[in-house]
Amino acid sequence: MNKIVLASGNHGKIKELNPLFADRGIAVVPQSDFSVTPAEETACTFVENALIKARHAAQATGLPSIADDSGIEVDALDGQPGVYSARYAGENASDQQNNRKLLDALRDVPETQRIARYHCVLVFLRQAQDPTPIICQASWEGRILSSPIGSGGFGYDPLFYVAEHQCSAAQLPADIKNSISHRAQALKLLANRLK
Ligand code: IMP
Repeated sequence: MNKIVLASGNHGKIKELNPLFADRGIAVVPQSDFSVTPAEETACTFVENALIKARHAAQATGLPSIADDSGIEVDALDGQPGVYSARYAGENASDQQNNRKLLDALRDVPETQRIARYHCVLVFLRQAQDPTPIICQASWEGRILSSPIGSGGFGYDPLFYVAEHQCSAAQLPADIKNSISHRAQALKLLANRLK
């Protein structure tokens, strides 16, 4: 079977991606299966970080690759935490620590100005030096609540209010979140581009 390497060891992401390729007899395999160590995410944009990760995985394995990079940007914080979403409160910070830091940063910001969005970039490289990568990006608009609510999802979901459903992303059933999220939208774009 032909293979595409995913520049992540996240099995949830593998599960989401495999159906896009299964009917072509192609398997998406995590880079950890090839003992590839994760690339350092040194850039300040999602696109550049996704490209760094995809190029690293393709280089190390000789296979086509896919990488994603995502995070949350908050308008009142000039786009922060952005690419630093996972490490907003420091390297290896927990979701709770990141959420607490975000709430502190927005303490004096009124509800109408707590506008935020999740952003996801997916990159597909045919080979490490591919000069024309496929790049798909999508966002999911919301607002930062003043306290966490809900127990589903991960990351900033308990603070991310989804107006359309009048609840936080952590209160949404997983199948709903997985059909409307930034990642779901970027995946749909990628599926269309690969047709
Ligand atoms: P990654 O690029 O998918 O690893 O995401 C980076 C960070 O962005 C995560 O560690 C979370 O803090 C945040 N993030 C990305 N997507 C989501 C989401 O769907 N819900 C909550 N947090 C997210």
